[in-house]
Amino acid sequence: MATISTLAYLVAAVLFILALRGLSHPETSRRGNLYGMIGMAIAIVATLFHHGMDIGGIVLILVGLALGGSVGAVVAKRIQMTALPQLVAAFHSLVGMAAVFVAAGAFYSPQSFGIGTHGHIHTQSLIEMSLGIAIGAITFSGSVIAFAKLDGRMSGAPIIFKGQHLLNAALGVLLLVLVISFVATGSPLLFWLIALLSFALGFLLIIPIGGADMPVVVSMLNSYSGWAAAGIGFTVGNLLLIVTGALVGASGAILSYIMCKGMNRSIINVLLGGFGAEAGGAAAGGGAGAERAPVKAGSPEDAAFIMKNAQKIIVVPGYGMAVAQAQQVLREMGDLLKKEGAEVEYAIHPVAGRMPGHMNVLLAEANVPYEDVKELEEINPEFAEADVAYVIGANDVTNPAAKTDKSSPIYGMPILDVEKAKTVFFVKRGMSSGYAGVDNELFFRPNTMMLFGDAKKVTQEIVQALQK
Ligand code: NDP
Repeated sequence: MATISTLAYLVAAVLFILALRGLSHPETSRRGNLYGMIGMAIAIVATLFHHGMDIGGIVLILVGLALGGSVGAVVAKRIQMTALPQLVAAFHSLVGMAAVFVAAGAFYSPQSFGIGTHGHIHTQSLIEMSLGIAIGAITFSGSVIAFAKLDGRMSGAPIIFKGQHLLNAALGVLLLVLVISFVATGSPLLFWLIALLSFALGFLLIIPIGGADMPVVVSMLNSYSGWAAAGIGFTVGNLLLIVTGALVGASGAILSYIMCKGMNRSIINVLLGGFGAEAGGAAAGGGAGAERAPVKAGSPEDAAFIMKNAQKIIVVPGYGMAVAQAQQVLREMGDLLKKEGAEVEYAIHPVAGRMPGHMNVLLAEANVPYEDVKELEEINPEFAEADVAYVIGANDVTNPAAKTDKSSPIYGMPILDVEKAKTVFFVKRGMSSGYAGVDNELFFRPNTMMLFGDAKKVTQEIVQALQK
């Protein structure tokens, strides 16, 4: 039986690796998801059989699976695409909490886990357990804050106070001391002190991170949740959980690196927080238009006319396209323009939207051809040759303040050079700023035309005008 389950674990691990590989490209992501699902089914069945559980245990697990699975299915069905980032953050928090619960279970019932007896737990298990609690608790409270920020339940602006970094460093050292003492004594009091301190640390680590740095936080917490799962794997002695946790932990860390690169930031800089500190003030300060010339607003018919005569059009989707669910009608617009003889491409900024790959997923859902979708480095040189940049619900990722204004909270972030196109259309509902809270001076440029309205509605009207 042990050999069969080891073999099944190996197959599941390979399927998880194939899943990650598949998820790295929109074209293969559905297959990747399927591999992941099959791998997980194999893993669950193998685990149930491996432990040769009595019927009561199996029934309990099946009830748990049915309950958790139903809640997951209902939530997944109901969730709006735009709320996925906060859902992911909420799910990460559950992984963190699970790690804490498993550690507590193992601590109070070591015999069931084969890691010693009450009061005499093996040292190695105490080390694994303390890491599990610390990473799990930090992941839990950090993810709860990320959820609240992404869901708009608390301000996205960084919360900064004097001596914050010193306090975090001191708490980090205290945590290390507690872990060492816990491993030496196995004291229940120290167990719960580690948990409490880690909950506080997770909270304190995430509150100063704000505005445009949230993408990195989301992927970093993804990585933490993986390491927390690997920690559980050590506690329950399950090799597959260790491998899977490490895969998630490592891929989350790589994603954080890619996100940091996309935003031209160092991970240390992000973790120390404060990026975007002035953002709230900038946005609240009356808007960019306060002392500038009025913006030039056009109608969908104007836009249709200009695009009908254009040869090269670059579409720049952003968070507003996701809010409006405008991807389908956007593809229809692209198809019509192609029929008119125009070249149509889609420019993707690495942090556009509210989660990594957000725009790629939406465009793939609308069957936009993959070869028309271009990453930032590839498309940027092309804006200068474009007749039109059609910016639909994107803002921060086009803001030239990132290139020119050293005092701007997004300074240094690479952006899409939309202003180099002959005409720039901005489709948005009003003059409000983007997620980072920074005003965008492009709205006032002579080659910009604002198309005010919901992204889907405006694009639909352009499609109708193109069909006339
Ligand atoms: P932004 O948040 O900068 O701008 C989106 C714009 O869309 C807003 O200015 C808003 O203007 C407009 N909008 C909202 N709803 C609609 C609608 N229904 N129709 C038309 N327009 C609409 O988005 P970007 O994609 O440019 O930038 C992403 C930002 O989010 C970056 O700052 C990034 O750092 C951050 N972020 C990214 C994450 C990721 O992983 N990708 C995760 C977390 C944060 P108006 O209200 O006037 O309509």
